[in-house]
Amino acid sequence: MVEPIDMAQQATVVEATHAWIARAGALYGRRFEPVPVLFDLKGRASGMYRVQRGMRVIRYNPWLFARYPDDSLAVTVPHEVAHYIVDRLFGLRRVRPHGREWRSVMKDFGVEPTATTHYDLDGIPMRRQRRYPYRCDCLTHQLSTRRHNLILRGTTSYQCRRCGSLLSHCGGVV
Ligand SMILES: [Zn+2]
Ligand SMILES: [Zn+2]
Repeated sequence: MVEPIDMAQQATVVEATHAWIARAGALYGRRFEPVPVLFDLKGRASGMYRVQRGMRVIRYNPWLFARYPDDSLAVTVPHEVAHYIVDRLFGLRRVRPHGREWRSVMKDFGVEPTATTHYDLDGIPMRRQRRYPYRCDCLTHQLSTRRHNLILRGTTSYQCRRCGSLLSHCGGVV
């Protein structure tokens, strides 16, 4: 297992994040509020910008930051700040995540606008995928949260490929 970055390193990342936000303010001639920064991201993404319950937050993956400190500060931090700036300038609903607007902010930042990384994920904790147990006439199936929700909404139903019977929820989560 990789050790996640410690409190002092987190403070440095928060500072760098706020410095990029201030830099965007200078570039676009307006003030952008600093956003809360969380270090609770697991899995293959090193950063994420999102609006949760009306609050804008930037989340970082403290394990990937520990493994790739330089890349994280040079690329991930401005990458996520650029998402935030695009949200403030255009609204997230009006743009594609890594579309023209985001790329233009990255260009103004002087950072290569690449959206994919090839990190070594060995020893990095993964996000736990919830699985929901379903039964047909012949066996048990594990359905993803997305499929489970579609069934709950009544939008769709799934058939077993082997026996052809409809899947029904057994209750509970795996
Ligand atoms: Zn992105
Ligand atoms: Zn079956």
